[in-house]
Amino acid sequence: MIIGIDLGTTNSLCALWINGEAAIIPNVHGHNMTPSIVGLDGNGEVLVGLPARERLLLHPQLTTSLFKRYMGSNKTVKLGPRTFRPEELSALVLRSLKDDAERFLGESVTEAIITVPAYFNDTQRKATRIAGELAGLKVDRLLNEPTGAALAYGLHQRSVESTFLIFDLGGGTFDVSILELFDGVMEVRASAGDNFLGGEDFVTALIDAFLNGPGNSLREQYTHEHNVEHFEQGHRLEQILRKEAERVKRWLSDHGSAKFKVSWQDQHFEWLISEAEFTRIVEPLLLRLRTPIERALRDSRLRTSDLNEIILAGGASRMPLVRKMVARLFGRLPAIHLNPDELVARGAAVQAGLTMGDAALDEIVMTDVCPYTLGTAVSERFGNDIQSGIYLPIIERNSIVPISREKSLITLTDHQRIVSIKIFQGESRQVQDNIFLGELEVPVPPRPAGEVEVTVRYTYTVDGLLEAECTVTGSPEKHRLVIEKNPGSLTPEEVAERLSELSKLKIHPREQLENTLTLNRMQRMYEEHLGDKRAYIGQLIGRFQKDLQTQDSRLINESRRDLNKLLDNIEGELRL
Ligand code: AMP
Repeated sequence: MIIGIDLGTTNSLCALWINGEAAIIPNVHGHNMTPSIVGLDGNGEVLVGLPARERLLLHPQLTTSLFKRYMGSNKTVKLGPRTFRPEELSALVLRSLKDDAERFLGESVTEAIITVPAYFNDTQRKATRIAGELAGLKVDRLLNEPTGAALAYGLHQRSVESTFLIFDLGGGTFDVSILELFDGVMEVRASAGDNFLGGEDFVTALIDAFLNGPGNSLREQYTHEHNVEHFEQGHRLEQILRKEAERVKRWLSDHGSAKFKVSWQDQHFEWLISEAEFTRIVEPLLLRLRTPIERALRDSRLRTSDLNEIILAGGASRMPLVRKMVARLFGRLPAIHLNPDELVARGAAVQAGLTMGDAALDEIVMTDVCPYTLGTAVSERFGNDIQSGIYLPIIERNSIVPISREKSLITLTDHQRIVSIKIFQGESRQVQDNIFLGELEVPVPPRPAGEVEVTVRYTYTVDGLLEAECTVTGSPEKHRLVIEKNPGSLTPEEVAERLSELSKLKIHPREQLENTLTLNRMQRMYEEHLGDKRAYIGQLIGRFQKDLQTQDSRLINESRRDLNKLLDNIEGELRL
């Protein structure tokens, strides 16, 4: 059985192709979405998802989120005594989803389709594969998230030629893809995006506006108290503000106005915000959304009127101001009848069904595009002048993959012995502004300048992996690229080492997770509330701890259910 996984910045989901349709697998708490949050509890045991999210506020040093943003980089996160790479944190989320799927299916699961933003580069894709490996999953295919959204809508089953634009605004990334379907072939015509733009930025904008509001002295109070210039990342007040801003943002999706309320050191701060004001505050973000849309249209040589359908995906596309902006931009209403949070995971399950060869699914051929231009550094001669560090594109962005392209280069100086092929990704004419992927040194016979020719061939696979091969004309020898200087990627030895380190981690026992979640929730609420409510929550904690000591599972389950009802009442409908 192959499972489909949407490994998201804020939330992750797991889905299956079962009885001829895609179904989301609920997690151990009965929820479809698992927050992409990892933490350690007091015993040093790993918690993933909701129980970890409940601890984000009280134990920011032991909890981490948004690590998908650092996939493919060397940035590590310290949780308690141990440092984690982003692949390892993602692996812990994947492992939790894998456990949920195994429990649901009653069999072991070892293969998965994992989705990635279309905009993920080679290193980020490799890191995602490694995360799968560290979680004990063979990654059959990395599927671009927008392609997943199209599959979920069944767009691949249309009988007429159509063109769709997928607008996917998640927690941390924005992707635009233009897909074309003809003769059973689904082709990504163009994909563009912004790796650092998502729902979280709308939260940040709200926090800034709140803190800069007239008469709001919270920032000064905090910086004075702590003798610092800014809020420290991950600090408790920052977490409180983020949580409240998230609540306000969601409330504004269904209501015309909302109250931003924060209590800090016995002082209360309040701000009434209208949807119109929210729109004004996030105007710069709305403008940034237009850039990738325009680029995708330009690259695919299409006009908005050529598009048959606009599909909204990603939780942040729920915001009415985003929907209005899309409707205005395209002059029509976008398709929103499926849950935008679940689209990508459902699409991954459809792909899993296709991979498993389910007869109910029509055979479709899917093609993707390479999201960036891939090229090499060359020198150019202008008369007597030599300019180096010039970019020579080999595979142009938005070429359909798999693709293989070659370019020939000649030696620049007399008796040159080495031609060094530096591989870059990016769009700038100066290689220094592009991303360096790796380097290959090709020995050449010493001859006069221009007499030796080297052919550089790049092959980009459907999984977004790049291979470079160089041959010197007249020589049968092929030099294949081994990317050595790839700071964001682990070597196979390092993967093995990480795997053994990860296996030493204690994972919080699954059967206790529901109780832990309830306890964590109560502890968070105890800290958040004051006075009578706080005392009441304190009593509830004591009662539950006593119940837990009985080890009578029937009594504990009943008590937990009752308690959660009481907690729901306290948090009211505003609870996220
Ligand atoms: P995803 O990465 O697709 O799970 O998207 C998560 C993002 O969607 C987060 O930034 C959420 O704040 C945002 N989101 C989810 N539901 C809503 C809603 N009702 N209104 C506004 N934003 C939402």
